[in-house]
Amino acid sequence: MSVVRVAVPRPLWTLFDYRTPDTIDPPLPGTRVRVPFGTQTLIGLVVESVADEPAGVELKTLSEVLDPAPALQADILGLIRWAAEYYHHPIGAAVFSAIPVALRKRVQLRPIEPPRHWRARADGEAKPTRAQRQMAALEMLRNAGSAVPERTLADAGFDARVIRALERKGLIERCEPPPRSAAPASAPFAPTAEQQRAIDAARAALGRFETLLIDGVTGSGKTEVYLQAIETTLERGLQALVLIPEIALTPQTLDRFRQRFGHAAMYHSGLTERERLDAWQQCRAGAARVLIGTRSAIFVPFASLGLIVVDEEHDGSFKQQDGFRYSARDLAIKRAQMLAIPLLLGTATPALETLNNARRGRYRHLHLTARPGAAKPPIIELVDIRGLPLDDGISAPLRNAIASHLAAGNQALLFINRRGYSPTYLCTRCGWTAACPRCESRLTLHRAPPGLRCHHCGFNAALPHDCPQCRFAPLKAIGIGTQRSEQGVARAFPTVPVLRIDRDTTRSARTMASHLEMIARGEPAILIGTQMLAKGHHFPRVTLVGVLNADAGFASPDFRAPEHTAQLIVQVAGRAGRADRAGEVWIQTFNPDSPLLQALVRDGYSGFAATELAQRNAAGLPPFRALALLKADGAELDRTFACLRTLVAGIEGIEILGPTPAPLARRARLYRCQTALLAADRAQLGRALDRLVDTHGSARFAGVRWSIDVDPYDMS
Ligand code: ADP
Ligand code: ZN
Ligand code: ZN
Repeated sequence: MSVVRVAVPRPLWTLFDYRTPDTIDPPLPGTRVRVPFGTQTLIGLVVESVADEPAGVELKTLSEVLDPAPALQADILGLIRWAAEYYHHPIGAAVFSAIPVALRKRVQLRPIEPPRHWRARADGEAKPTRAQRQMAALEMLRNAGSAVPERTLADAGFDARVIRALERKGLIERCEPPPRSAAPASAPFAPTAEQQRAIDAARAALGRFETLLIDGVTGSGKTEVYLQAIETTLERGLQALVLIPEIALTPQTLDRFRQRFGHAAMYHSGLTERERLDAWQQCRAGAARVLIGTRSAIFVPFASLGLIVVDEEHDGSFKQQDGFRYSARDLAIKRAQMLAIPLLLGTATPALETLNNARRGRYRHLHLTARPGAAKPPIIELVDIRGLPLDDGISAPLRNAIASHLAAGNQALLFINRRGYSPTYLCTRCGWTAACPRCESRLTLHRAPPGLRCHHCGFNAALPHDCPQCRFAPLKAIGIGTQRSEQGVARAFPTVPVLRIDRDTTRSARTMASHLEMIARGEPAILIGTQMLAKGHHFPRVTLVGVLNADAGFASPDFRAPEHTAQLIVQVAGRAGRADRAGEVWIQTFNPDSPLLQALVRDGYSGFAATELAQRNAAGLPPFRALALLKADGAELDRTFACLRTLVAGIEGIEILGPTPAPLARRARLYRCQTALLAADRAQLGRALDRLVDTHGSARFAGVRWSIDVDPYDMS
């Protein structure tokens, strides 16, 4: 008699034991099974087998084994279990959010077939066909002269029906793939000495666990380092996984990998369930050699993974912000360690915890300080805007700079991290401000299309013509968003195209594509946008970057806000002067004496980071202590607070801050509260959270939802 322990897709902290019917072999860990659960039957996943039935318990029997062989291999199961424990998330919920949605259903996993190839039959001439699609496909195969992959035919619009028909008529036949070209296309240039050192270090690390931090300024050729390290990995018959931020998954990024390696599979949230399952299976079977994916790709199984790359490792999108709150960057480190393979973390602005790990010798720190070729690093300057009149957010010195860069035939980029027209809409007579009725926040004024919108819950209202409280008109818009600065520069530079790039304009893929095309043509233009401009794009004709308001980020109560703001500024600055023209970066500020801004301008990101790390150390904040947030939301404030108090009662030996209202204290009608737990290290924090889950994991707090966020990315 054998017993299996099964994870079920429910937010429950335990595994459930089932007996295996005597007639079958006990399913191995990683196998999907159907099990009776309460009054239902669920699809679950076997996590362990145990030899004996626990004494004195009557176990249910599992209903069906879905996979003939485990769907999840041992290393992925191990990674998910580790993550569920580390992030203190219920095991079943963790398992089922880490695998493709399609696997939560009864689909069969089929073995992956090698890609089929076709060629025209030499003796097939005699019987041409009248069907046009078939004739066109035949033509394509005849012209090719050699084996054509079925995927290429499909890309050309010839589906399996057309191919099958031609095969039946004896006009084409299946054949062996052409011999794999000896090596991937090589780089069109020789690596710089710094690149070569990083490439050598990555190559030398293949076959063992090592984390390499590729700390390279924007445009210094980090991607080339990844490509060459991947090339060697593939030559050894191993696969490579590249994690990139959500926003960086541009066609340009993919093209670079595809040009080099012929094919790269993709895994991200924009795919259909079927496509995701396909990519997942291709990697698992070893058929896909390179996978490029966003956060969730860290859980994709590989037949023989040899290298992991995390590009822009500092990026917030690697941390899942709800449900299973894992960090794909940190799990990449764990996965590399478990598999004894190297990990490359690349960025121009390392996260402070990454820098700290490098300082402590846990990571190998490699620097790329120069841009290859003639490209020069940008010059950064502060514009003291105290007392200067601002015209829709733009000071006269910045306006003059824009004019001179445009006159020289270049482009300018203005960065403002707020979409909409204006963040505050108020009555100057009675003080009324437009506020969201469901959140504790103001409504943002939008002009195109007009309306008041809540950026937290999506609430929409028509634009009031006069004050709802005292009927005074006109109401006043205070503060700047992208739409307003767009309007301002359009007025100041009426003959130059102004292109706005934020979440409102990029919802339309057509608008975005036409904007990017216009920018690529290189004629004088002004780009205005949010952080969407900071990543993934190359704007070789941009020689001036203006940061309209740097202060908001540095003044935020979130202790991580200065770090994130500095990263954003440096990333945006990196868009300037990527080709042969040196760039200038102008930062407008009301606080030109701020030590953080000063450090950033004087010594660049590393100077800023050193200053900020010293402050974090003095304040006992991460990365010098381990932090978790307990979050709760509910319709009644008292109960929400009480839930958090109960959860931490009995926890000793670590610092407990709160409960307090969250920075956004109410969202979509729910009060939001949080308690911060600060421990000397991750082990101590982990023990405290274990205790909390043991005591309260299955407790119910009426009307309140609570969750744990280990290593939170932000405090909101
Ligand atoms: P990063 O990823 O660090 O931002 P990229 O890899 O995108 O930098 O490189 C920036 C540009 O420099 C790219 O156009 C790339 O083709 C080019 N480049 C990279 N390495 C070299 C080199 N050794 N010599 C000349 N050009 C290079
Ligand atoms: Zn009023
Ligand atoms: Zn709202």
